[in-house]
Amino acid sequence: MRFAILSRKPSLYSTRRLTEAVKARGHEAQVIDPLRCYMNIATHRPGIFYKGKALDRFDVVVPRIGASITFYGTAVLRQFEMMDVYPLNESVAISRARDKLRSMQLLSRKGIGLPVTAFAHSPDDAEHVISMVGGAPLVIKLLEGTQGLGVVLAETPKAAESVIEAFYGLKANILVQEYIREAGGADIRCFVIGDKVVAAMKRQAKEGEFRSNLHRGGAGSKVKLTPEERSTAVRAARAIGLNVAGVDILRSNHGPMVLEVNSTPGLEGIEGVTGLDIAGLMVEFAEKHARANHTRTRGKG
Ligand code: ADP
Repeated sequence: MRFAILSRKPSLYSTRRLTEAVKARGHEAQVIDPLRCYMNIATHRPGIFYKGKALDRFDVVVPRIGASITFYGTAVLRQFEMMDVYPLNESVAISRARDKLRSMQLLSRKGIGLPVTAFAHSPDDAEHVISMVGGAPLVIKLLEGTQGLGVVLAETPKAAESVIEAFYGLKANILVQEYIREAGGADIRCFVIGDKVVAAMKRQAKEGEFRSNLHRGGAGSKVKLTPEERSTAVRAARAIGLNVAGVDILRSNHGPMVLEVNSTPGLEGIEGVTGLDIAGLMVEFAEKHARANHTRTRGKG
């Protein structure tokens, strides 16, 4: 089979591992920079071009679209979908995952555990928003933030109010969330492929920090999940419509709470911690489903 890997950089760990895994299973792989693709949106004849040539010979497309290029990246992916190339994750699901608020709305509708979260447009309601999530300490998040940037812990109501007002002053979209203290600065990354959690790791924040992101100095280690955590992660990925997802969970006194569903989970941390060939498992899933050409929204046939 012929695999297109949509990624800006062949040298990134995840891109490299996916390319290796595709080749190791006897397929062809080409890394394609989505920003260098251009498209032709004609009736019945969708086309996609790359560096002067038509791209029309792929069976599978593996999207590795960074948050900063979501708009154009998902448009390119959608074009592959129009041409009946099997997407490992669909463009619509990636767009949902990239919007934290939209994702939380979808998860809440499915009854998946979430920290109490509020969202408002006007700073005039800051006080009520704070009381809605149970008062301080609370967490304030920029909707557009990634890798823990734009996630602030406000210890007192006064601090919370000041931060909320400051963000509103900058016209930033924010959400305000109950602080799960008992998580102890740790979260759990569940790597979901299809209907299974294939790997998981615990990330522990460094001393004096509540954000456990590896980019913020957090450390990963192996972890054993409870059946409830497994099913929460799988249901969360399904609610967003992702075949491959990194579901981040906090261990709270009220059971697992989903923080985020990531549509382009990195492979370096999770393969390093677990020693598993996650790239190989992704390729295996794509192989199986591309043959049947079943996607979540296209259905069977
Ligand atoms: P990002 O998408 O930027 O990584 P997250 O929402 O995942 O932002 O938050 C970053 C980290 O902060 C999480 O991995 C977690 O360790 C911590 N964190 C986030 N929200 C909460 C919360 N409500 N309670 C406790 N810790 C939290």
